Amino acid sequence: MTRRACGPLILIAVLLVLPAVVLGVDIPTTTTTAGQAPTAPAPTPETGDSGDTAAAPAPAAPAAPVRLRLGSRGPVVKDLQRELRRRGARIAVDGVYGQGTRKAVIRQQKRLRLPPTGVANEVLLRRLGIQQLRVAALKVSSVVPAGVRMDRWPTTGRFESPFGPRWGRMHEGIDISDERGTPIQAALAGTVIFAGTEAGYGNLVRIDHGNGVETRYAHLSAFRVAVGQFVNPGDVVGLMGATGSATGVHLHFEVRVDGVAYDPLTALPPRPGSVLPGL
Ligand SMILES: [Zn+2]
Repeated sequence: MTRRACGPLILIAVLLVLPAVVLGVDIPTTTTTAGQAPTAPAPTPETGDSGDTAAAPAPAAPAAPVRLRLGSRGPVVKDLQRELRRRGARIAVDGVYGQGTRKAVIRQQKRLRLPPTGVANEVLLRRLGIQQLRVAALKVSSVVPAGVRMDRWPTTGRFESPFGPRWGRMHEGIDISDERGTPIQAALAGTVIFAGTEAGYGNLVRIDHGNGVETRYAHLSAFRVAVGQFVNPGDVVGLMGATGSATGVHLHFEVRVDGVAYDPLTALPPRPGSVLPGL
């Protein structure tokens, strides 16, 4: 099955499962359940197989990624609470994500060596064995918090892959492909806090923009900045490549706020002359 075929399947699965979720019916699935050992999630983005997609149609809109946080409500919060209780947390199973649930989530995140954000994302829910289709059926916003805006696109090229669940895991950024060596530019002014190699990401630049906002530029073939350097929007931070888990030359670009990845398309300005999913 190709990556392109995955989007429609996710959509069909969501449509099939949604009514049952609303009714509170338990659905047997072939995805991870509480009894199975969860597969180790990659801490990273993966591929843009840009080499084989020249004639492919635009990717289907992804299901909204899950971010359960303070104030979230619903059946998946209940699932989460039930699982946290099973693991020893003394919290109510009331479907409301309060401080007690948040603290229990942080404890689990530390135990599972995930960033202790207190926000239950899809990676955590999968690690806890909570049914993936129920997770996918929950519509939680992937829109960046108000006020988070990029000044410009980080590079030129073809939009290859959107943010969202892909191949049963979370694709936490967007992929843009162009020629190897295409300049990668800072999307917003900030300070370089990382310029090195990280598993999956390959050669990675991370820029801190203040107020918890961070951008990541992955799979680079070369660096053009060093840690501690201040960059303005448009400054070249590196060159496009295919280092790390990438099957083709592309940029993997992430926007994070307080460590949580959001859909970069909700933070980027419109790109004139290009056709973008959802914009
Ligand atoms: Zn990617």
